[in-house]
Amino acid sequence: MDAGKVNRPTGGREARRLTARSGATSLKCKPRNAFAALLQSRIGAGSPLPCRPMISVSAPARDNLLDLTPADAESRLGGVLTEWGEPAYRAAQIARRLWMNPAPSFEAMTELPAALRTRLAERFTIPRLELVTHQLSSDGTQKFLFKLPDGEAIETVAIPDGGRLTLCISSQAGCALQCAFCATGAMGFTRNLLPHEIAGQVREMRLLDTPLGVTNIVFMGMGEPLMNWKAVSPVLTILNDPRGLGIGARHITISTVGILPGIVALGERPEQFRLAISVHAPTDELRQELMPINTKYPLADVIDAAREFERRVTFEYVMLGGVNDQPEHALGLAVLAQRCGAFVNLIPLHPGGALGFTPTPPDEIQRFARRMRSRGVEVAVRKSRGMDIAAACGQLRVERLRRRAPRSADEHGDVQVA
Ligand code: SAH
Repeated sequence: MDAGKVNRPTGGREARRLTARSGATSLKCKPRNAFAALLQSRIGAGSPLPCRPMISVSAPARDNLLDLTPADAESRLGGVLTEWGEPAYRAAQIARRLWMNPAPSFEAMTELPAALRTRLAERFTIPRLELVTHQLSSDGTQKFLFKLPDGEAIETVAIPDGGRLTLCISSQAGCALQCAFCATGAMGFTRNLLPHEIAGQVREMRLLDTPLGVTNIVFMGMGEPLMNWKAVSPVLTILNDPRGLGIGARHITISTVGILPGIVALGERPEQFRLAISVHAPTDELRQELMPINTKYPLADVIDAAREFERRVTFEYVMLGGVNDQPEHALGLAVLAQRCGAFVNLIPLHPGGALGFTPTPPDEIQRFARRMRSRGVEVAVRKSRGMDIAAACGQLRVERLRRRAPRSADEHGDVQVA
């Protein structure tokens, strides 16, 4: 731990940022539909939407309660319910049905009077994610493909392991980073997900006919979470807050290619969220070939950021046959891991990602692990899960929708770095 680093609580700043974000009420023109909401997310919540001439005085836009932290949602509800002359306990009662014991709709909140339910539905939204595909692997891994209102599709994977159930969630539709072995990278980037589209993936697990009790979250689905910090930061609050999904911060892992401002922002959060860094190569030369982002955030800077991070980090290292799995790579990786005290996860390549790579055979992965352990590094070899349902990053969507030509990060004005 770096004694010089002060862990500042960010509550006030976070609250201000959220107020600004969710300040749709203060905008001159509110999003009227999914397209307008999307447009607003692209041009930034702070800038008013270009208003159409006022031809009709239509119903005011409804606030999406699931884009707010639980505290903000409850206070937003509280304000409106007071105006309506409802009893004080109602706001907390309704807030509990957002995440803790989620209701599929206001209509389903049968503990409330019918008239109030109708009124709530006229004033607020609690959008569902539309489940289009649900697959179960022979090893118990389940994969979900959700369709968003603008036609985008995102994946979520549920991985049971002993008493744990880890949910691998997506933070962007597509990804701008184009890592050579990753199916999501090959499809290109479309847009950042909104808070409710990210946390909603966990909420949907509680709304299944057979609900899934998620114990752990990893941001290892589609996208780069630290390039969508504006949404991911409130999502972390929703996931962790006992009034939200109540998942312990140590059970929530952000995985990143090494977006430095994002790592700093995550480190400034007072909660014990975990950080995993996708390293995948021990030298800049090789890493650049596999991960184009390395030109912007070189390995030495990423390792420095991992050293500065208050909590122990994990390295993710996909084993690519004949590419990054040789003895010299094990040695180089061990040196990097020691430099920042990292725990190393060796990941068997999921075939069916991007083409042109072969998995390292299991016994060679073990040999690689032993080499690192002999240098005092803690290493785990990840089990490959969901092989029969193409559960690796981006694969389901690639199977269902045709691949697009990849676009480069530079083309994405709305890719947002923390
Ligand atoms: N952008 C973030 C999170 C999404 S990817 C990141 O890169 O960390 C989550 C993890 O899955 C990363 O470590 C990524 O390198 C790995 N991954 C991608 N494609 C894979 C594949 N075909 N087989 C195994 N792991 C893969």
